[in-house]
Amino acid sequence: MGYIGSHVSILLLEAGHDVAILDNLSNSSVVVLDRIKQITTRLPEFYNMDVRDTSNLELAFIKFHPDAVIHFAGLKAVGESVIDPLRYYEWNVMGSVVLLQVMNKYQVKKLVFSSSACVYGDVAEMPITEISCIAPTNPYGQTKAMIEQILADLVSSDQGWSVARLRYFNPAGAHISGLIGEDPNGIPNNLPPYISQVAVGKLDVLKIFGGDYPTPDGTGVRDYIHVMDLARGHLSALNYLSNESGLLTVNLGTGHGYSVLEMVKAFEIASGKKVPYRIAERRSGDVAISFADPSRAEQLLGWKASLGLNEMCRDQWHWQSKNPNGYRSSCAY
Ligand code: UDP
Repeated sequence: MGYIGSHVSILLLEAGHDVAILDNLSNSSVVVLDRIKQITTRLPEFYNMDVRDTSNLELAFIKFHPDAVIHFAGLKAVGESVIDPLRYYEWNVMGSVVLLQVMNKYQVKKLVFSSSACVYGDVAEMPITEISCIAPTNPYGQTKAMIEQILADLVSSDQGWSVARLRYFNPAGAHISGLIGEDPNGIPNNLPPYISQVAVGKLDVLKIFGGDYPTPDGTGVRDYIHVMDLARGHLSALNYLSNESGLLTVNLGTGHGYSVLEMVKAFEIASGKKVPYRIAERRSGDVAISFADPSRAEQLLGWKASLGLNEMCRDQWHWQSKNPNGYRSSCAY
C-alpha cells in the first residue's frame, strides 16, 4: 500500500486478480484503499500487520490462499540506513526471511521481489546491465543485495520456486487520476517528491546535492521511470513466472538518464511553478550517474517503459497539487 504497491494493486485489480494487501502502515495510509476503490471500483482485502509477524502472516495465508506474492515491504531511506543499520537488517532482511518461511510452509512459491538499482553501487560503465557487479554502497543497498542472495539460494535449493528480482531505477510520477501517488513521511528523501513539495509551497527550496559531478551540468544523473511503467513491469514478471520456474533478474528503467537540473526544468514546465534551488554539498553515498540497460526486461518479459519525463512530471504534479498534504489532506475530489 506504499507508493509502488498501491499502483501495482490497481493494475492487478483491473486485470481481474484478487488482491490482498498486507501492510503495517509505517509509511502508508488506509486512505489508499478508498482511492483504489474509486479508481477500480474494487476493494482489495487489507491486513494491518507486519511482515515479521509470523503468526499473523500465517493467518493471512490461510484466509486468502495467495497464488503468488509481490514483496514490497521494507525501509528505503539510504541516509537513515547508515545511521541505524540494524533496523534496516531487521525490517528488510528478517522480514523477507519470515515471509519466505511462511510461503514455503504454505507451498506458495511464486514471488516478485522489489529490489533496487542501488545493489550495483558505483558502476564505471553505463548503462548498467544485470551482470554488473553487486557492490552496494550503503546498508539499505546491502539489505537488497542480501535478500537477492537469499532468493538465489532458495531457488537453487528447490526447483519449485519461481522468483523475479526486479531492480528498480528511480520511480517518479503518479496514477493519472491524481488519486494516488507518493506520500512520504516527513521530509522526502527522494528527488521527485522533494521537487513537487517545493513547487506546491510545502518546502522552500530544493537543495541539489552536488554541482561538481562529472556530468554535463555537474548534477547527478538518474534513470527516472514512471511509476505506472514500473507497476506494469510487475504484472509482466508475474505473467512470466506463471510459465517459468527459477530465477529472473531484470532492471526496470528507461535507459535514459536525466540530471537533477533537467528534472527541475521539466517539473517547472509541467507545473507552471518555480522550483527555487541551491547547490549544496554532495550527499554521501551518492553516485554521479546511474541509468539502466533495460533490454533484458524487453527480451524476456516483453516489457518496455512507455512514458517519458513530461508524463512523470505532469502526473507527479497532478497528484501533489490535488493532495498537497498527501493522504492526510481533505480530499480535493
Ligand atoms: N537529490 C538532490 N536533492 C534532493 C534529493 C535528491 O539533489 O533533495 C539528487 C541526488 O543527489 C541524486 C538524484 O537527486 O543525484 C536522485 O536522488 P534520489 O534520492 O531520488 O534517488 P537515488 O538515486 O539516490 O536512489
